[in-house]
Amino acid sequence: ASAGAPGPGAYAKFVSKLDKLKLDPGEADEKPNLNLVVIGHVDAGKSTLMGHLLYKLKYVSQRDMHKFEKEAKVLNKGSFAFAWVLDEHEDERERGVTVDVGVKYFETEHRCVTLLDAPGHRDFIPNMISGAAQGDVAILVVPASTGEFESSFQHNGQTKEHAILARYCGIRKLVIAVNKMDMCEWSQDRFNEVVESLRAFLLQGGYAAEDLIFVPVSGLAGVNLVDPLPAGVADWYKGPSVAQCIDAMPPVARPANKPLRMVVADIFKTILLGPITVSGKIEAGVIKEGESVMVAPSMVLAKVKGIHRHRGKEIVPAKYARAGENVDVGLQGIEDTMVGLTSVLCEAKFPIPVVQYFEAEIATFDGLAVPLLNGTQVQLHTQSSQAVAHILKLASVRQPDGKDKANPRFIRKNQTARVFIQTQDSICIERHDDFRPLSRILLRQNGVTVAAGRVLDFKSPKKKKL
Ligand code: GDP
Repeated sequence: ASAGAPGPGAYAKFVSKLDKLKLDPGEADEKPNLNLVVIGHVDAGKSTLMGHLLYKLKYVSQRDMHKFEKEAKVLNKGSFAFAWVLDEHEDERERGVTVDVGVKYFETEHRCVTLLDAPGHRDFIPNMISGAAQGDVAILVVPASTGEFESSFQHNGQTKEHAILARYCGIRKLVIAVNKMDMCEWSQDRFNEVVESLRAFLLQGGYAAEDLIFVPVSGLAGVNLVDPLPAGVADWYKGPSVAQCIDAMPPVARPANKPLRMVVADIFKTILLGPITVSGKIEAGVIKEGESVMVAPSMVLAKVKGIHRHRGKEIVPAKYARAGENVDVGLQGIEDTMVGLTSVLCEAKFPIPVVQYFEAEIATFDGLAVPLLNGTQVQLHTQSSQAVAHILKLASVRQPDGKDKANPRFIRKNQTARVFIQTQDSICIERHDDFRPLSRILLRQNGVTVAAGRVLDFKSPKKKKL
């Protein structure tokens, strides 16, 4: 095993801090946090839809409203102004590092929502894979307009790729916003056509039928985003609006009783939390003001100066925060070079493994143009890192009869295999058996995702086989 990796079963020895903090592991917050990602093809209407949703939920400030109105006048329609809402940065943040993923916080009746990503970004996939965009639930926006749905859904369209990647990133539930319904006269036949094509594909891609909700909307007109459909628009639809779907999402089970793992998604300065303030989602465990945390992979200790929670527009200081929450954390006692966008804040005595070799199970995609061989170079993406990597050895490949064949010479597209991978630099990763969310990997080549998988163990193949 590589240095820094605990042996199998080590997790069982971890003593949860919940007792000490008098926290009930099952206790639901009064308003559970939901991490929401927005995915879909370019021009599907993601920015417009989310911008308009925030506007309807009154998350657009007076100043922004003003700008919005002016802009809407110039354009003679509101479209770009809504999209623009999402591109605004929060004023109190003086950014030290450029990030590709924006975060917005808003509330519905029963949920605090952290909206992840800046949908305007064209190369969204690496961000989606990285921790910055780790969601619990995704809104998949698809255009219902004639021809547009078809092109977003064909081979090179992003609808399919995003949906499958989201599933590999651990997202189970999808709200599918069938958008631009105004462009097809709110036709029930068209809606059904889009739903049927998508449903068949998503079921095949590993989603469960009960986890898919299809909602007809117009992001531009703001119809069925927050309020239910007004009578006379599409009386055939009796379901919830987008905001109602979000509000009804069950809180995700949070492993608060595991060792702390918080993947840093952003670094900035704040007046209250200091020159090294990081934000991100707590994947596991509890973080507490005044305690030390280990910053991986630089493995330095930092002191938690303070913690800020977001409650819609409000920032609320907190003594602690736990798994599932998206918080800002001020760090003290380290240099800013010791923490980066892919750092993981960990339990000081139970850090995340930092390794250079591992064994993984992978499934290859259509995008794999040339078969994988021993020695093939890939770009490895995990929730917390990106690294140049090599397939050290192909260990086995699944045969059509379900049996594994050892030592294959190559792996083609759409196959399942076990491989040994070596990374150029050390990465933070977990074994699937220990902690699933941080064990996922994706392999890309030339900007195309060729495989997804999970880390089984920290092992390198026997020397003589190399
Ligand atoms: P994104 O790339 O997915 O973020 O898409 P945008 O939000 O930038 O929207 C792309 C284009 O589609 C813009 O010109 C929008 O005005 C238009 N659009 C978005 N939603 C709707 C809609 O519901 N109806 C109509 N007719 N146009 C829309």
